[in-house]
Amino acid sequence: MGKHKIQFANTAIIYYPDRVKVQVENITKTYTKLLSKKTVEAVKNVSFEIKPGEIYALLGPNGAGKSTLIKMIAGLIIPTSGKILFDDKKVKNYEALSAVLEGTRNVYWRLTPLENLHYFANLRGVPTRTIKAKAEQYLVDLDIDAKKKNQSRHLSRGMLQKLAIASALITDPQILLLDEPTLGVDVASARKIKQKIRDLAKKEGKTILLTTHQMDLVDKLADRVGIINKGELIREGTIQELKQIAKKYLYEFVVKGKFTPPALWKKKYDVKVKNSNGDLTEMEIDCKSAEGFKEALETVSKKSEQIISVRQTQDDLEEVFLRSVNGG
Ligand code: ADP
Ligand code: MG
Repeated sequence: MGKHKIQFANTAIIYYPDRVKVQVENITKTYTKLLSKKTVEAVKNVSFEIKPGEIYALLGPNGAGKSTLIKMIAGLIIPTSGKILFDDKKVKNYEALSAVLEGTRNVYWRLTPLENLHYFANLRGVPTRTIKAKAEQYLVDLDIDAKKKNQSRHLSRGMLQKLAIASALITDPQILLLDEPTLGVDVASARKIKQKIRDLAKKEGKTILLTTHQMDLVDKLADRVGIINKGELIREGTIQELKQIAKKYLYEFVVKGKFTPPALWKKKYDVKVKNSNGDLTEMEIDCKSAEGFKEALETVSKKSEQIISVRQTQDDLEEVFLRSVNGG
């Protein structure tokens, strides 16, 4: 895989000419239940883009439409309408793409880990000799228990997931789709998986889409997040942006002595008194607007003994997410 280093003045930019951008344009998927003929709108007019070297996370509760989206991008199910483009082109069965679907049936249980890697490489036309060293390396890199003769069905859930990821990587795909990559996986394996995902994007410039309903995975890993609920992409942005969108005017006030929030505040702000031990009072106020913050600050400075500190704080991603899916 080619990699050019371009030197501009005093910065070096690594440019990957063969990396691929993925565009999802107005994708809709309506399932029709076979017997009842009832329809389910699993994905509704969703658009987003993933750049090379970027980790994009689709975050949403169960039934939001995440797996359906992944399967459409992977070419496994056909969208009802809309387009999926790779570098601005419509391509059927895109070869430089690998997907790890949800669950444990991504590898063959009766093959050993090494046999699985060879099997998946051969399936895509990569000859055994080309991947021999690489396959062994993946087992080591990902810490997969590969006792030579043991069938993969003896592996733990975490090991199986790591093997599924290695099997997806063995053909050196430019795009990697991971559906719930750390769901049900032990802590050590989850850590390995996260590290691998990060390296693939940051060191190798791969284009990565992952889906999850686990906040911790997104917070540490994703460059951008799309929040999806009931088939709709309801919010999108970097983690910083998402935290900002939700509560721009969240402030922590620490004042000397006892401070009782005025009754009037109940209507205007959300106030949480976090600590009040007599010596000082610590509270978090969602001031709702710049004007609201000004007023709160004036009130606090008038009515408290002394302001010790005022600090703008951020919501954690979990709260942003919950508010988004609850229509806040
Ligand atoms: P997620 O992965 O976010 O949990 P899914 O994409 O699996 O969501 O499901 C989205 C919605 O589509 C759900 O309501 C689910 O029941 C429905 N669904 C998924 N697959 C099918 C199918 N093959 N036939 C009918 N409905 C489906
Ligand atoms: Mg799913």
